[in-house]
Amino acid sequence: MPQEVQGIVARAKGQPVTLETIVVPDPGPGEAVVQVQACGVCHTDLHYREGGINDEFPFLLGHEAAGVVESVGDGVTNVSPGDYVILNWRAVCGNCRSCLKGKPWYCFDTHNADQKMTLADGTELSPALGIGAFAEKTLVHSGQCTPVDSSAPATAAGLLGCGVMAGLGAAMNTGGVGRGDSVAVFGCGGVGDAAIAGSHLAGASTIVAVDIDDRKLEWAKQFGATHTCNANDTDAVEYIKSV
Ligand SMILES: [Zn+2]
Ligand SMILES: [Zn+2]
Repeated sequence: MPQEVQGIVARAKGQPVTLETIVVPDPGPGEAVVQVQACGVCHTDLHYREGGINDEFPFLLGHEAAGVVESVGDGVTNVSPGDYVILNWRAVCGNCRSCLKGKPWYCFDTHNADQKMTLADGTELSPALGIGAFAEKTLVHSGQCTPVDSSAPATAAGLLGCGVMAGLGAAMNTGGVGRGDSVAVFGCGGVGDAAIAGSHLAGASTIVAVDIDDRKLEWAKQFGATHTCNANDTDAVEYIKSV
């Protein structure tokens, strides 16, 4: 039986979001219904509401979530009901040239759930980044579910699905930070702090955190920044050169 839950929807460009009744279908082949326990608020959700991603309103927002698998469809083997999972944007195929080369981030055949969640009147929803987790439950492809340690609080684990990956990946993969490197990170919010943590994990010896908020610079130290620079009262470029 399809279920009705509450969710946060952006109905039209630039308009305030609204709490709506969402119809979540039973999971079809390869799909899973997840009970959302926590979901971060990311700037990309604002981009969706502002029409900056595409015009496929209404959007079911939210994409940094952790929760528990409630039910799975036919053929699902990677997760089972009761599993504690985080959600990622797209499931990879596991069989294409990129997946077989161990580079699933270049997968040629990624996918989300085939079925659509809808508003109560049947209007199809576009889930933000294929997730739509500002809702009590959401329907995803099972490959979007990654089991994680159930002792991790959902409010922290969910962030792995977007902000942490974005920053950590920028440092460790895109930026290729390595042992002994010097790194400067401009902007020490969630993504910036994750980039600092990624640089630290990769063995960077000098990590300069740049922000205009002393409180954030203090937090940056906890993630591995070795130096901090408040760009309001210091020339950041000159400071970085001097380190
Ligand atoms: Zn995000
Ligand atoms: Zn693939």
